[in-house]
Amino acid sequence: MKKNPIAMPVNTAGGPLKGIRGQIVTFTDDPFLNPSDQCYLYIEDGLIVVQDGIILDVADYASIKDKYPTLDNIDHYTNSVIMPGFVDCHVHYVQSPMIGSFGDTLLQWLNEYTFPTEAKYKDKVFADEVAKMFFKQILQQGTTTANVFSTTFATSVDAFFEESERYNTRMITGKVFQDRNLPDSLKDESAEESVEIAESLLKKWHNRGRQIYSVIPRFAPTSTERQLMLAGELYQRHLDEGVIMHTHLNESVGEIAWVTQLFPNIDNYTDVYKEYGLIDRKSLLAHSCLMKEEEWQTLHMAQCGCAHCPSSNLFLGDGEFKVWEAKDPQRPVRVGMGTDVGGGTNFSIPRQLNEAYKVSMLKRKNMSAIHSYYLATRGGAEALHLEHSIGSLAPGYEADIAVLDLNPSEFVEWRMKFTESIMDKLFVLQTLALDNMNMATYVAGNKVYDRERKDKPFMYANEFIK
Ligand SMILES: [Zn+2]
Repeated sequence: MKKNPIAMPVNTAGGPLKGIRGQIVTFTDDPFLNPSDQCYLYIEDGLIVVQDGIILDVADYASIKDKYPTLDNIDHYTNSVIMPGFVDCHVHYVQSPMIGSFGDTLLQWLNEYTFPTEAKYKDKVFADEVAKMFFKQILQQGTTTANVFSTTFATSVDAFFEESERYNTRMITGKVFQDRNLPDSLKDESAEESVEIAESLLKKWHNRGRQIYSVIPRFAPTSTERQLMLAGELYQRHLDEGVIMHTHLNESVGEIAWVTQLFPNIDNYTDVYKEYGLIDRKSLLAHSCLMKEEEWQTLHMAQCGCAHCPSSNLFLGDGEFKVWEAKDPQRPVRVGMGTDVGGGTNFSIPRQLNEAYKVSMLKRKNMSAIHSYYLATRGGAEALHLEHSIGSLAPGYEADIAVLDLNPSEFVEWRMKFTESIMDKLFVLQTLALDNMNMATYVAGNKVYDRERKDKPFMYANEFIK
């Protein structure tokens, strides 16, 4: 445990104050690279003070309550842990309707389920319906930022950002580039046109409120070299504005063999993306399961992030992410968690931690609760280069918060009697990972999800304006 070192300038003159009180856990550093007990802050009875969606203060309740004499709006949580909202570094919202489809390996599964489902998003009404359902699922699980695949059509991007804007969530998506090796119903008309559509979506949505645009080639096999090149140029043109690049890398053996066949003159899969300007400091590579050492070096040098998606990797039976390999202190890579719905089988980041622990144990490495919840929060923010605005509970950060119930069932409540430390409790919670374990989710200070608000558990941001 150590003192929170992050202090950013905050504006003290502003709207009314809001308090959130209870046990607080937040991460201050990477436990894979530092002594893990020095990488988090634990406050047994803490208070988070929020103003205008931004955290103003985080400290022991008794030590700061007198500093805010006008603060009377406090949500007080007992038998729970207040944490930064979870970050899902890789998820396909458009695959929500096909989660849990009886499967096969990646490439067959894409043809059988994914492509026919994604072809439906030309219809804005359908896209709206899925976006609404997706946001409910992730907010219910305490996820407040997600790095999301839409699909080919602009409608799929608009539907997603429109719903995000209603909750005022910090979300990332973009139009998916795919102009070969998939059904015509989903294929871009041409590389040039696809980039024009993407650039106009980027201009419409990037930095509008909390929305972030991303350049998304689905993966190397479904883009022509021309499209990869134009996508890379688009990314490079907008990199300094904070636009993200998001794609898949080294997920399965069959996929890698296909890439080798399509790009015979390039040394490895990572270099295909590098060749077209897609590897840079805001690039997020989902999966990265079957990596060569030189590929890790490339990601390290460029400061890229990876998304660890254990539920999906196990479901599709393709590869597994080696988190300790990624975190080699000689060339560490930024890593966060991803649900990868619909390859992943649920929307819960704590459930991903449960699977990640088991995947790590296959390599005889046991990943502690400190490592796990770091990946779920601050690690995810680092992977997306958003670690200065989200993923931590500290002054100046955006007030995106999850409240985990330590007693979500009679059995878990009983089981908790046999735990000692807060990290013991968090480990039990991730391992049992009940569907209702998140009590409340705050987005920019608004409690947009409240498990106890039975008649109306979800609320949009404008419903809080009095
Ligand atoms: Zn994916």
